[in-house]
Amino acid sequence: MFDFELETISRWISDGGFASVALQMPEGLKIRAPEISEFIERETGAIPVIVGRPCYGACDLFDYHGWADALIHFGHSPIPSQGDDPNVLYIESRSDADVDESILDSLGTLPTKVGLLATVQYLGLIPKVRYILESSGRTVRVGTGDRRICHPGQVLGCNCSAAEAVDADVDGFLFIGEGDFHPLAAAFGMEKQVLVLNPVTGEVRDMAETRDRILRRRFAAIQGAKDAQSFLVIVCSKIGQNRDELADRMVALLRDHGRTAFKVVIEEINPTALMSYQVDAFVNTACPRIAMDDAARYPKPMLTPPELEIALGERQWGEYLFDQIRP
Ligand code: SF4
Repeated sequence: MFDFELETISRWISDGGFASVALQMPEGLKIRAPEISEFIERETGAIPVIVGRPCYGACDLFDYHGWADALIHFGHSPIPSQGDDPNVLYIESRSDADVDESILDSLGTLPTKVGLLATVQYLGLIPKVRYILESSGRTVRVGTGDRRICHPGQVLGCNCSAAEAVDADVDGFLFIGEGDFHPLAAAFGMEKQVLVLNPVTGEVRDMAETRDRILRRRFAAIQGAKDAQSFLVIVCSKIGQNRDELADRMVALLRDHGRTAFKVVIEEINPTALMSYQVDAFVNTACPRIAMDDAARYPKPMLTPPELEIALGERQWGEYLFDQIRP
């Protein structure tokens, strides 16, 4: 179960004197939106409005001005480099899943020096998993990330700086979380083994195979873009995905290499938003995972900026770089 901290929400709205609040949450949590809205209205008298558009991260913070007095953003932690608005409350929706010593039965291949990582929902398990691993004779490090990262050990799909912070001291990583999305960021960004512990099922798996499969696809996309003559360089208008300067650099690089390049600003990047543009390839400076994980949805090759450098011969395939968004 995920904790929606309803008492905290009720107190925060009353203390702030907000007459209305916007509620923003990822797709997986939207099923709870009506129930949370009902609670807020009943307990505080504030009028809730649910933000219906898709939401993938705190990088996509809804501009609530004109819609409500305040915003409650569920399912993600703040991104410190985006600033601090006192009228925005983050409900991280922490999980109450638990683990015990039996996890050691499945962690035989885990090295003796380990970096611990987690998605925000499972950060609360880090102290316990740390204790279990240390009891087994292992050394555990939990890194502090850069200003895009709110908590020690936390990984975003576009930033594994918490892993980089302890890379020199460990031989591998244990990631606590569900799904492939977040651990893949650590697997793409680090050259070491990344094992994932799913605290709900108790399952442990190695990310190596999934990582290699996606990297093979990235190699094919880069090859497919090598002879492309016209490119669309995408920049995203969402606050935490906007890398306009990088987009300008990519346009300049392409033109230096004799290619045609245009910059387009898009809010929601999807195949429909791109279908009008008759170009040979796309360069995406927005969320790097759109190109890396969703490439099959697009009819033309879509590259991240470091992948474009490989396609243009500015970087070798052996120097492949996971495109991270830095603060
Ligand atoms: S840019 Fe992508 S990976 Fe990063 S926080 Fe936003 S949605 Fe997640």
